[in-house]
Amino acid sequence: MIQTIPVREDNIFAFKVTGTLTDTDYQQFLPKLTSLIEKHGAISLLIELDDFHGWEAKAAWDDFKFGIEHNKDFTKIAIIGENRWQKWMSVLANAFISAKVQSFTRDNIQDAWNWLRQEKQLTAMGQASLLPYNNIAVALDFSPHSNLVLARALELAKHYNSSLSLIHVIEHVTHMRFEFDLITTAYGDIEMDQALFDNSVKHLDEVASGLNYPNIKHRVLWGSPKSTILSYALAQDIDLIVMGSHGRHGLARLLGSTAHGIVHNAKCDVIVAKLSE
Ligand code: AMP
Repeated sequence: MIQTIPVREDNIFAFKVTGTLTDTDYQQFLPKLTSLIEKHGAISLLIELDDFHGWEAKAAWDDFKFGIEHNKDFTKIAIIGENRWQKWMSVLANAFISAKVQSFTRDNIQDAWNWLRQEKQLTAMGQASLLPYNNIAVALDFSPHSNLVLARALELAKHYNSSLSLIHVIEHVTHMRFEFDLITTAYGDIEMDQALFDNSVKHLDEVASGLNYPNIKHRVLWGSPKSTILSYALAQDIDLIVMGSHGRHGLARLLGSTAHGIVHNAKCDVIVAKLSE
C-alpha cells in the first residue's frame, strides 16, 4: 500500500509504503506521480518504508519502466527504512534515475528532510538564532482533554501569528479488531474504517471552523498516533507540536504512551499540556 504524507512544500512529495507492493498499487500511484511531475516539473521524493515486504514481479517491472521514462524528472529521492529493501531500492534508483538518491535510517529522518530542503536550511542558518514558531501542529484525540490542548495551541498560534494544523489519527479497525471484535463482526472492517474516517473528518471540520482562526488547516490521517504525528511534523516542517500529557488511555502513568513517544522522538519542540484528573 502507498499512502501520501502531506508535505508543506510543493516540489517535495512524501509517501509511506507498507506491506507488499502490487501491480494495482502502482496502477493507482504512477498516474498520480505523473500528474505531479506535469504540474510542478522536476520533484523530490521522500519514501518511508514501514513494514515493507517487497514487490510483486509485475509491480517491480512497473517501477522500473516508470523510472526509465521519467529518469530526468526527479531532483532528489530520500529513502527511509531500516532493512535491506532500503539499500536495494537506492541501488536500483541510482542505476536508472539521474536524481541524487540517498538512504537514511528511521532515526535519521530529520537528516533526510534537511537534505531534501537544503537550500531553505542554509537561508534559515543566516537568520537570528531564536526564531518564532511558524508552523504549529496540535494533536487531538477527541478525548475530553482535547479542548484544553486545543486552547493552548490556539493561544500560541495567535501569539506567534503562525499557521495552525489540527491533526487527528485513526488506526485501521483491522489493527484493533481484537479489542473491538464484536463491532467489527457486525459491520466489517472496511465499512468501520470508512465510517470512523468520515466521522472524524466531519468532527475536525466543525472544530476547525469553530476556532475562527484564519491560518488553519486540519487533517485526519491513518496510522499509529505516535509515528503518524512524528512523520506529519517532519513532512509539514512543523516547528512546534502541542499535545496533551494524557488522552484516551487515562492517567495511569506520568506521561501517556503517545506523549512519551513524541517527546522522546520529535525533531522539533513539543509542548505537553499537563492534564489534571
Ligand atoms: P496518550 O499518550 O495516548 O494518553 O495521549 C496523549 C496525547 O497524545 C493526547 O492528549 C493527544 O494530544 C495525543 N494523541 C493521542 N492519540 C491521538 C490520536 N489518535 N490522534 C491525535 N492525537 C493523539
